[in-house]
Amino acid sequence: MNSQSTHAFIALGSNLEQPVSQVLQAFEELDQLPDSTLISRSSLYRSAPIGKLDQPDFINAVACIETTLTAHDLLQKLLEIEQRHGRKRTSLNAPRTLDLDILLYGDLQCRDEKLTIPHPRMTERAFVLRPLLEIAPDCIIPGRGQITQFLSYCLDQKLEQIVP
Ligand code: ADP
Ligand code: MG
Repeated sequence: MNSQSTHAFIALGSNLEQPVSQVLQAFEELDQLPDSTLISRSSLYRSAPIGKLDQPDFINAVACIETTLTAHDLLQKLLEIEQRHGRKRTSLNAPRTLDLDILLYGDLQCRDEKLTIPHPRMTERAFVLRPLLEIAPDCIIPGRGQITQFLSYCLDQKLEQIVP
């Protein structure tokens, strides 16, 4: 890892148009981002929708990349990948072909109109915490602490690891 590069954790989610393929393809696209390398990726997980219940289950995963992109440049690149996957923004919690969220970017804490890091809802979501724990068991969320402490709050959320 060179002196300017950072480990960024990215949550992937899809529940439309062959979600497993969407997520597997997205791992490759993360690896091909400029100035970035895919370091690790979790298994795939199947989760029940939250908020808007009348939609298909989601496929979720978490990836870690090493990157020299800034957090805002990385967000822009992720939005471009979502667009290539035909992402349409309709309403909050709507079904989606691909959602890519930045969970963590090194130890950065930031909050502006475009980007909040650490991701504000990551500690409430089993479909983020479980795959993150799989690839980064000692992970600390800047300003919040160890991820393990948050898992107990979301044990009621249905989540199934998909056997590779
Ligand atoms: P959600 O992921 O909450 O379902 P969207 O994918 O439609 O919603 O994202 C809406 C906006 O959220 C993005 O355009 C982006 O500017 C903003 N955003 C703020 N923080 C983050 C983050 N950590 N990762 C990704 N997007 C973020
Ligand atoms: Mg998103």
